[in-house]
Amino acid sequence: MNRIYLDHNATSPLRDEVRRRYLEALDEGLGNPSSVHAEGRAARAGLDEARERVAAALAVHEDELVFTSSATEAIHMAVLGARHADPARSGLVTSAVEHSAVLGAARIRTRDGAPRIEVGVGADGRIAFDEFLGAASGERIGCVSLQLANNEVGALQPVAAITAELARLGKARPLVHTDAVQALGRVPLALRDLDVDFAALSAHKVGGPLGVGVLYRRKGRSLVPLMEGGGQESDARPGTENVPAIVAAALAIELAVAEQRAALARYRELGRAFWSQLRSVVPDATLNGPPVDALERLANTWNVSLPGLDGRTLVARLDLEGLSVSSGSACASGSLEDRKSVV
Ligand code: PLP
Repeated sequence: MNRIYLDHNATSPLRDEVRRRYLEALDEGLGNPSSVHAEGRAARAGLDEARERVAAALAVHEDELVFTSSATEAIHMAVLGARHADPARSGLVTSAVEHSAVLGAARIRTRDGAPRIEVGVGADGRIAFDEFLGAASGERIGCVSLQLANNEVGALQPVAAITAELARLGKARPLVHTDAVQALGRVPLALRDLDVDFAALSAHKVGGPLGVGVLYRRKGRSLVPLMEGGGQESDARPGTENVPAIVAAALAIELAVAEQRAALARYRELGRAFWSQLRSVVPDATLNGPPVDALERLANTWNVSLPGLDGRTLVARLDLEGLSVSSGSACASGSLEDRKSVV
């Protein structure tokens, strides 16, 4: 049976050209990029080139990028690594619908009783803007973490509008981190225009290998490493870099950005066909998150409620029919209940 895999927000299949590059890099027998001999220098060259490619794709400086083991690690580095910058302001604001990596890092950051505020979202999955801004402007808030795109309902959050408002606070402006994992390759991603201090990305959501994340750290923003060890990644993240995977990840990210426009058009077309066919079979199906044609939603993400059907049972039945989808869990976001997601 030919399976149909529709769960790209969970992880996406390795692209053919990325797989080829990955295998080539493995076969090249690269050494440790911190070694000075020929193998080490070859690995360093591969790593440098990968960083340059990702920097060019994201229109940032290569010194602003740190390769990590996952977006989860990059998120922890941003949320926790900058907490010592101003101990009087270790409080944090997030949306209530952040990925569990952000919510978990936020809990760790505020373990000592520092304020942690989770701002809720409306029925369209978007944050209550004024409430978020008010919370982010609090005296003891040193960091704000707001996702660009939600992995379950696909709502896009107004990160640029939030940073524009926060800029008015001048020196009292909190650091801003955005989880951009689901935005990469799905919507235009202009980190500079977003005016954020940190952003986290993951290669495996865009046809790259598992286990490679990227932390964007705006020039001048210092981070205390989460682990002790070597001085890799400009002292930001100890541990020998996984060069072949990073080389492959860089290609995947480059392709995702280059093809983003075409991908969006295709998602829109496929989405319209999916939705009209679903509604013709299940007329009372409803879409969770932003409305069908809203610009504030990921065009590849369809989170629908089918009245009378249990999400988990449906996912299991569809799996037997060869269709891979997932059911969103209300406990992950605390905002929406009884939904079945198709992404
Ligand atoms: N943030 C979002 C929105 C995600 O969807 C994911 C993936 O599950 C992550 C973060 C974590 O990414 P990674 O698997 O690279 O740790």
